[in-house]
Amino acid sequence: MERKVKILVTVLYIAACVAVIIIAAFGAVTRFAHADGDKSDGHIEYDGAIEHIFTHELIYDTEKAFAPNNKLRNCFDKDHLTAKEFKALLGELYKNDYVLVSIDGVLSGKKPIMPRGKKPLVMSFDDMTYDTTDRGCIDKIKLVDGVVYDFTESAEPQLTRERENITILESFIQTHPDFSPFGARATLCVNGYNGIFGYRITPDCNVSEEYAESETRECKKLVSALKDLGYTFASHTYYHKYFHSMSAREIEKDCNAWDKYIKPIVGETRILCYPAGQHNADSARNDIFKAHGFNVFFCVGSSAMTETEKNSVDATYIYRKPFDGTALRLYGKLYAHLADTAAIYDKSRFRPFSYKGGYY
Ligand SMILES: [Zn+2]
Repeated sequence: MERKVKILVTVLYIAACVAVIIIAAFGAVTRFAHADGDKSDGHIEYDGAIEHIFTHELIYDTEKAFAPNNKLRNCFDKDHLTAKEFKALLGELYKNDYVLVSIDGVLSGKKPIMPRGKKPLVMSFDDMTYDTTDRGCIDKIKLVDGVVYDFTESAEPQLTRERENITILESFIQTHPDFSPFGARATLCVNGYNGIFGYRITPDCNVSEEYAESETRECKKLVSALKDLGYTFASHTYYHKYFHSMSAREIEKDCNAWDKYIKPIVGETRILCYPAGQHNADSARNDIFKAHGFNVFFCVGSSAMTETEKNSVDATYIYRKPFDGTALRLYGKLYAHLADTAAIYDKSRFRPFSYKGGYY
């Protein structure tokens, strides 16, 4: 009898191991779809350039965000999309046959295997600290009964899935699962100086230790749920200071703060997303990031890489196209293959579509 039990346990153990291996292998292939796949099922190897777009947190209440007495309204207008625009952008990308792939698949160096006629797209979201209370952006991303919601203290209802990039993307994929055929989501480029996703978890947030601890517990659950959904993480630096104004000592301090306070929450990442895209790959200061384990650098713009960036053997530089008010107005032609920027422009912005001002 005892022997029978032992055999049964062994059989169950082997079955469990096999199941884990199958799930791991299947998960990796489907999420990234960059492995050598069976191309006889309508999937073909994609040979073209892979687009990478990004947004900041969204404006869901344009009346508050663009009110004349809101000191941030110029910044909101230049650097952000409204929730309505982001929804419309997803619709345009979908219509133009883009599907999400993950950054890990791209970095694997293998060509993506795409459903016939589809084009790969990487998406990333920057900042999302939610420290501009009641100015038209949400306050927090929350996990409620295992579901990801955006939360806004002053709004009714407080919990929705239609006011922020993560939740709108989730809602969109729910109704259009073929927009993410491999389970990929966005890369979340977070800071630390004021916590992440509205959770005040670092000493710089100036909250009580007790509050920071309970926030950290909640935040870890959220991060884990986001990872399960397919989101990946990048460092957008701890302090969000611009590269050209930082000394070597400040960059070292920044990296140490990231390692100490944010890495334990979001896990290891080798991606560093430069604030405002500012960087200099030729500078010895950039090597400080490398010494802290970063070897993939997210930049901003559509411009060609510098010779140093192109020929770099120890780092990869990836240029991302911003989607924000300025880009919608100025880059209509450049972005035409992705989206009709005039069609998605939110008319409740205080500036007309014809406004020609740039980022600075
Ligand atoms: Zn930023």
